Amino acid sequence: MSHSNTVEFVTNGGWDERVLVFRNAPLVDTFAIISARYVVVVDTMINAVTAQKIWERIRPYLVNGRSLLVVNTHADYDHSWGNQFFAAMGVPIIGRRVSVPIFSEPDSTAFLQRVQTDEPDIFAQVVLTPPTILYDEQLTIDGGDLTLQLLATPGHTVDHAALYIPEINTLLAADAAELPYPMARTPAGLPAMRQSLAKLAAINAATVLYCHAPTDIGAQLLHDNIAYFDKLEAACRAALARGVSANPPEDADLLALVGLAYETAVPPTAIWQNVHEYYRTHGHAAQLRAMLASTAAVQ
Ligand SMILES: [Zn+2]
Repeated sequence: MSHSNTVEFVTNGGWDERVLVFRNAPLVDTFAIISARYVVVVDTMINAVTAQKIWERIRPYLVNGRSLLVVNTHADYDHSWGNQFFAAMGVPIIGRRVSVPIFSEPDSTAFLQRVQTDEPDIFAQVVLTPPTILYDEQLTIDGGDLTLQLLATPGHTVDHAALYIPEINTLLAADAAELPYPMARTPAGLPAMRQSLAKLAAINAATVLYCHAPTDIGAQLLHDNIAYFDKLEAACRAALARGVSANPPEDADLLALVGLAYETAVPPTAIWQNVHEYYRTHGHAAQLRAMLASTAAVQ
């Protein structure tokens, strides 16, 4: 896909006014939380230019002794490649301890080099910049009026975290759930991702915002993602019982083999049915492949 440096401020759709939503369309939504003590930027978009645009929008709130903090939900490029902008200003960047090595992994540096070649206008200046204040499973930021609870929710990536604010019963689920589904980076991540979905759904947040889903989709998306993976598990279990391999050959037609089309695994409504073709074909097949392997592993 090709990227842009546009950052749009998303009009409040009924959530608490202290939660701001920014959009680098069509790629990602990120957030800022204006608490009494801190302005907390949650994810830094794709480069220093987009990060600076977020900063310009939140700058008026940096009064009355408020300090600026940055949180990364995980190390993916659409969430953390603006870190360098804030690091250069001396702003603490909070992330999970397991995030840090990801910034220097060969896969990460190879991906950076590739997109720097493909889209130099967007990525040429990016310097991978890991978080500097680290936590393992949970971290609480006491903002005075709002408490920000960072919760490890691995699966999509090993370092993923979500953010819950109890005073306003608001959950920033980041990439733990997505329309039409989150993807685990590795097959082993799938069971962890489903556990994280269950953990977040159990919070029963009144407002749930995501990085890759419409802002008005609500907590229902958590339940719809859970239902999608439950359907895949049931279909894979039946396929394995019929003798389908837990690890079909590369060129196998997973949709035919398991007998579960994307269209029947998701709700019948337009936003689910009219997704990009990738999600209905290759993406869904990859989910089926991972589910066959993980279902067979626990049998
Ligand atoms: Zn993302």
